[in-house]
Amino acid sequence: ARTGGRNRVEVYDPGMRAAVQAARELEHELRGALAAGEFRLVYQPVVTLADRRVTGFEALLRWTSPRLGPVGPDRFVPAAEAAGLIDEIGAWVLREACTTAAAWRRDHPGAADMTMAVNVSAAQLASPDLVGSIAAALAESGLPAGALVVEVTETALVGDPEHAAACLAALRALGLRLALDDFGTGYSSLAHLQQFTVDVLKIDRSFVSTMAEGEPMPAIVRGTIDLGRTLGLEVLAEGVEHEHQARLLAEGNCDSAQGYLFARPLERTDAEAVLLEQVAR
Ligand code: C2E
Ligand code: CA
Ligand code: CA
Ligand code: CA
Repeated sequence: ARTGGRNRVEVYDPGMRAAVQAARELEHELRGALAAGEFRLVYQPVVTLADRRVTGFEALLRWTSPRLGPVGPDRFVPAAEAAGLIDEIGAWVLREACTTAAAWRRDHPGAADMTMAVNVSAAQLASPDLVGSIAAALAESGLPAGALVVEVTETALVGDPEHAAACLAALRALGLRLALDDFGTGYSSLAHLQQFTVDVLKIDRSFVSTMAEGEPMPAIVRGTIDLGRTLGLEVLAEGVEHEHQARLLAEGNCDSAQGYLFARPLERTDAEAVLLEQVAR
């Protein structure tokens, strides 16, 4: 407790001041990061639950700052949004992911149909640049639009639902597929499914983690899979860490999965090795 006076309390709160300072430092370090080549993508395999084949990858952004060390996207993506840098970084992510996917599809016969998923944040979805930068990434890389999956979270849709709907429609018109990420964690998930047309439903890890060994499928997971399938969507479970979860999801007709059980997000060459191995089988 502190005696307030007329000044705002934050000014005297050392914890708050440190947080503001840290956010400023993060933004400062982020400014030159793209030009300095400090970003890279890692790729987490997506596997079918029925036969555990790799059908594609999700590109996940990594940043190693020379001064701060590795910083996770949960921390730097919001900072990049606040600093007005997310469009530029997002455009780089799209070009890099599309170029990589196009090369893998060309070089590996077994990967001719593989997909690449890219995350798009709320601020990116709100930006007038997004559709153009995705179209440019597809054109430059030669990746067929149908091979690209754009992942949006429900929270990205709530701010300006009309704009979001128009943007998603424009993206689908390009021929790519849309995934609703972290499904079930947002506010009024069911309403979103009705309002926005998507192709893939990604069941959030927090639901998958409730699947305990020797117990039946939790009703929420079962309900989500059934709902997605009834709507004709591909249903993908995130954060699958245990064999019993994969088995139960497969029995429940969930299409595909990602998670540490199958593979962690992999460096580019390691991800490519996974493709090679699969061709050899
Ligand atoms: P997300 O899209 O929900 O990504 C899934 C996160 O779960 C990733 O964390 C991934 O490394 C992690 N993960 C995957 N499998 C497992 C598992 O079996 N167990 C556990 N505990 N975790 C698992 P990551 O890479 O730290 O990314 C965090 C979030 O940052 C992402 O959540 C996404 O929202 C955002 N993000 C990542 N890359 C990008 C990007 O290029 N652009 C934008 N806008 N956001 C990004
Ligand atoms: Ca995602
Ligand atoms: Ca997710
Ligand atoms: Ca998430």
